[in-house]
Amino acid sequence: MGVVVQKYGGTSVADPERIRAVADRVVSTRKAGNDVVVIVSAMGGTTDDLLDLATKVAAHPEPRELDMLLTAGERISIALLCMAIIDLGFEAVSFTGSQAGIVTDTIHGKARILEVKGARIREAIRDQKISVVAGFQGVSTTADITTLGRGGSDTSAVAIAAAVGADVCEIYTDVDGVYTADPRRVPRARKLDAISYEEMLELSASGARVLQVRSVEYARNHGVPIHVRSSFTNEAGTWVTEETEQMEQAIISGVAHDATEAKMTIKAVPDRPGVASRIFTALAGEAINVDMIVQNVSSHGHTDVSFTLPRGDLVTAGEVIEALCAELDAAGFDVEDDIAKISLVGAGMKTHPGVAARMFAALAAAEVNIEMISTSTIRVSCVIKEADLDRALHAVHESFELDAPGSDV
Ligand code: ASP
Ligand code: MG
Repeated sequence: MGVVVQKYGGTSVADPERIRAVADRVVSTRKAGNDVVVIVSAMGGTTDDLLDLATKVAAHPEPRELDMLLTAGERISIALLCMAIIDLGFEAVSFTGSQAGIVTDTIHGKARILEVKGARIREAIRDQKISVVAGFQGVSTTADITTLGRGGSDTSAVAIAAAVGADVCEIYTDVDGVYTADPRRVPRARKLDAISYEEMLELSASGARVLQVRSVEYARNHGVPIHVRSSFTNEAGTWVTEETEQMEQAIISGVAHDATEAKMTIKAVPDRPGVASRIFTALAGEAINVDMIVQNVSSHGHTDVSFTLPRGDLVTAGEVIEALCAELDAAGFDVEDDIAKISLVGAGMKTHPGVAARMFAALAAAEVNIEMISTSTIRVSCVIKEADLDRALHAVHESFELDAPGSDV
């Protein structure tokens, strides 16, 4: 008995039948004595269709108008879900992000939540009504409608869960939890019962698509327990919570991949103070999210600087870097868009040496060449050729015996 926040993704509300199934699940949670707040995504495929429409009327749709358009998707699903719940004899009320008091900054397309007022949701809870809130959207400090970036409904859900002091934020999706690898690529991947915020953050940031990175960040900062589960079964999924001793004992939690990035190399950049700052300040100024950065050893006062970035930002980054090459007197730049990143993540890395070595050995045995390496305390990532990705995933998953429950190095 408590406040349960449930978020349903696009596949869970893809058609009228599924919307009725979601209504059933919401109502049974209510009948069990909980206060329920629901967050929904747009019906599956809707956001993509709307994006498509936009690019058919304009080459570069105006970000403010694009946000106005995209938020329509979630408006449709909140209204439909409320109707279905009311049809079952329960009281429900829908809210847009703005009505729910989700206040964001002014960056259209990737706005950040600054505050969740939530007055109307709390009022609905007091009145024993189920609230259904549109995910992925908010209202900016300048009163414009904003979106939170693809997959942003996860973040809406966690933020609302924090604001109403929910006992759990259930994220219903088309997979039944967080896996040791993407099961579509690694059939022997295993579902995890639990994972820490830190590990989930690394997995999400490394390409695991199950939760939006910002949602995990938000959950960690506000201590919101997340339960990732399937809307098609009643099975328990994966809990994302504070780290426990058991999690650390598992050493490795999983291996994530990302085949959506590209690599840029700026050649023969003069090796003097301020150059890196100049390059990455310029990219940041265009809100380009640079990931791995490698600077080579300097030779004859010049060095190569490589970094990875989303492929979708290549055009903008190309313009920025081209201008900078002239300004900095660099020799030019290369782009590789056939790369992939494979990342091994586990809390136990903090205390167990040799994990990186073992990963490199597995890649070597599979004849996968490593182009770039980066690490955090609980992650090792390698940039490789995209064509080698499946082979690399299998090799690493196998080497760390991630298909065996409670696997140990
Ligand atoms: N509908 C939005 C998207 O497809 C937000 C979400 O589903 O979380 O990205
Ligand atoms: Mg999603």
